[in-house]
Amino acid sequence: MKIDKCDRCQFYSNSPHLVCAVHPSGVDKDCLDYRLNPTYIFEGQWCPDGYVYYDDELIKLPDKPNKERQLWLLDNHPAFTGVCGNCGYHYPSQSTSWDCPECGTVYE
Ligand SMILES: [Zn+2]
Repeated sequence: MKIDKCDRCQFYSNSPHLVCAVHPSGVDKDCLDYRLNPTYIFEGQWCPDGYVYYDDELIKLPDKPNKERQLWLLDNHPAFTGVCGNCGYHYPSQSTSWDCPECGTVYE
């Protein structure tokens, strides 16, 4: 028979006639061949920003700027715009430090 975790096992067939490739008629209790489908993420399960639930464990995603932050950077960071988003100071084209010498704004 099919057990609860079959749904997120990579061997699960998703077929009404066959439980999975390893155990066509399912298992009695627990399944020793259970493998979490790597593409499976608990749908609708709450988890903190930057984390996903994976095989019942909370996994931290790699740090990366979120979309808004990336867009903000493109529009405002002097590395992209060449000017200070705060005071409009124009950076020299060879500048490697993005702390504004005019108004003191610090860019990360
Ligand atoms: Zn400035």
